[in-house]
Amino acid sequence: MSKTLLVTGIGELTVNDPQAVDNSSAPDPLADAAFVIEDGRVAWYGPARKAPEADGRIDVRGKAVIPGFVDSHAHLVFAGDRAAEFAARMTGTPYSAGGIRTTVAATRAADDDQLRANVRRLVHEMAKQGTTTVECKTGYGLTLEDELRALRIAKEECDAATFLGAHVVPAEYADRRADYVDLVRGPMLDACAEYADYVDVFCERGAYDEAETRLILDAAKARGIPVRLHANQLGHGPGVQLAVEYAAASADHCTYLSERDIEALACSETVATLLPGVEFSTRSPYPDARALLDAGASVAIATDCNPGSCYTSSMPFCLALAVREMHMSPGEALRATTLGGAEALRREDVGHLAVGARADFAVLEAPSFLHLAYRPGVPLIHSVWKNGERVG
Ligand SMILES: [Zn+2]
Repeated sequence: MSKTLLVTGIGELTVNDPQAVDNSSAPDPLADAAFVIEDGRVAWYGPARKAPEADGRIDVRGKAVIPGFVDSHAHLVFAGDRAAEFAARMTGTPYSAGGIRTTVAATRAADDDQLRANVRRLVHEMAKQGTTTVECKTGYGLTLEDELRALRIAKEECDAATFLGAHVVPAEYADRRADYVDLVRGPMLDACAEYADYVDVFCERGAYDEAETRLILDAAKARGIPVRLHANQLGHGPGVQLAVEYAAASADHCTYLSERDIEALACSETVATLLPGVEFSTRSPYPDARALLDAGASVAIATDCNPGSCYTSSMPFCLALAVREMHMSPGEALRATTLGGAEALRREDVGHLAVGARADFAVLEAPSFLHLAYRPGVPLIHSVWKNGERVG
């Protein structure tokens, strides 16, 4: 018979019950709460005084508990770092998509063990900060062999693996872009299809234009692989409209949006994933989260952890940025970093702690989740659990 575990003495429990929390409303936490874990899932939650008997018991002594963060956008399969580029940027050199090629060279030169160790290091770093679900993209290999090995590692080490062969056009194809697009949508996608939960394209000035993006999205669609897009990061463009047209799970960045883009997102199932760590680390204007939320769009917040434009692995940091810089309420930001991320990955079992959810949660060294935004930069994650097991 399976053992049950009661987590009790919770000063404030955020459940995020998808039945009770609508598209954009802030979660309503329970005071003096408890929940029961059975077989790695939530079996019951409610007031502590009404908690059923269980085989084991943990008393968190008034601390707040939140669902584990769902980081729905990260690039973890790489080698090297670009600290010098960051330093140059902070003293005036603008960010451009071309810096990605520096990481491509280092990644190609690394062996599988080095790449795997880097992913594990970062997933562990994320777990210590409360993240229990991680999406990971390829995009620093840009040859069939290097993209395939990156996708396999992402699939083995993370919760969702995204094929991003169309990150930038590699230098060796600079004069024959069409050949590279054909490689991505043909042989590369054929080799990667069995490991790809998603196909993504960096649809941006300096990366892939609308026609190229369509060719790759059509190829994904033909193979039945869902898509997500890097869209409207560096300027206005066709990315968001394409994401909605192709029923993408998510349009990511959304930094430069027209009224039409906001309307399209609000009327679609496509989640607007905002990555405020990028704007922080590239000293760029933040996306208009308020306009998206007020229009009724689904919003997620993720790290975009990568060695170039944003090398943070911290969802609490991104949550604090969303509140301070994008005028989201702390409740909206908590929802966007948990349930919003789950929606962006089309996962119903994570991002909340309603009955049946995976028992993925973080205990905070604080009486309320509000402290995540109120005390930025402070290590407030007391402990982290995934599938009912302690992982950090
Ligand atoms: Zn990205």
